[in-house]
Amino acid sequence: MSEERTEISSLGEFGLIEQLTKNIEFQNASTILGVGDDAAVIDHFGKQTVITTDLLMEGVHFDLMYTPLKHLGYKSVVVNVSDIYAMNATPTQITVSIAISNRFSVEAVEELYEGIYAACEEYGVDLIGGDTTSSSKGLVISVTAIGEVAPDTFVKRSGAQVNDLICVSGYLGGAYLGLLLLEREKKIFLETKGVQPDLENRAYIVGRLLKPEARKDIIDFFRNVQLTPTAMMDISDGLSSEVLHICKQSEVGAVLYEDKIPIHPDAKEFAYKLEIDPTACALSGGEDYELVFTISQNDYEKVKEVNGISVIGYIADAKEGATIITRGGNKHQLVAQGWNAFSK
Ligand code: ADP
Ligand code: MG
Repeated sequence: MSEERTEISSLGEFGLIEQLTKNIEFQNASTILGVGDDAAVIDHFGKQTVITTDLLMEGVHFDLMYTPLKHLGYKSVVVNVSDIYAMNATPTQITVSIAISNRFSVEAVEELYEGIYAACEEYGVDLIGGDTTSSSKGLVISVTAIGEVAPDTFVKRSGAQVNDLICVSGYLGGAYLGLLLLEREKKIFLETKGVQPDLENRAYIVGRLLKPEARKDIIDFFRNVQLTPTAMMDISDGLSSEVLHICKQSEVGAVLYEDKIPIHPDAKEFAYKLEIDPTACALSGGEDYELVFTISQNDYEKVKEVNGISVIGYIADAKEGATIITRGGNKHQLVAQGWNAFSK
């Protein structure tokens, strides 16, 4: 961050909003009217509209001791567009609302918005409004994302059928390991003043936590090969929790195979170093923002050679419940907090 510090009070609320939004250029024809009026106007030209919102609270969802504001801005957009993609839809607009204290300068808020705009560009969404208010203490960021989808092609959590294949994108567990690392380094830093964090060779897991990406590419892939998953969600709370949601809402069971769950070598290595089970990190860790989806077996050919998509199990009858077969061939009940099941 630059040395400069402009007090927000010197601009005032409207001056700040003007400063933050003056360079917006729309990327979507559906954006009719953006910042500057009582409300924005969008036209999805016969498509259906998908809406999602997320609230991020300092101290609960992020720690500014190790989260650069630019990354935070980027991530606050990513977690929302990820939810839109998880509906098999295309994000088109976002609104951003912030509550800030005078602890933040104009420069700091601009840094946050730099990340927000970088994500807007990456995912092709327009910032069309928001709200700005003061906070007595922590920073609060609320993002709402709006998307479009061709009529009735959105994918819900409730469509999984018995014998469907369960697939995930990317690697799981990395973000949680990044969090463990940063929390550990923060503790050391606070206890031993002046000790710089040891993040050597840990770029992968730190990046997974601080700069996640939403899987736009997977949704594009579905469109290209004309594949419609039967059910889908993004992985924000850990694989176990998400698979259990799909099971509950689809009224089915599931069988996962531990050896099929994709975990990046760098994540595995750090998990072993901490003497924790990498699989438990994937099952219960969360914040990976990958997609978990189910497909009909007839569509297996479309995914089997695809880099970045792993088939990790199948949908079973509801009465079988949701289980995971370990490497050793044992069957465990899948639980939302996978730690107990795996502490051998
Ligand atoms: P209102 O009083 O109607 O809530 P505001 O003065 O809060 O209007 O907002 C003026 C305009 O600026 C609106 O278009 C609003 O959507 C937009 N806006 C306000 N805060 C933000 C923000 N933090 N980021 C982006 N746009 C914002
Ligand atoms: Mg307002």
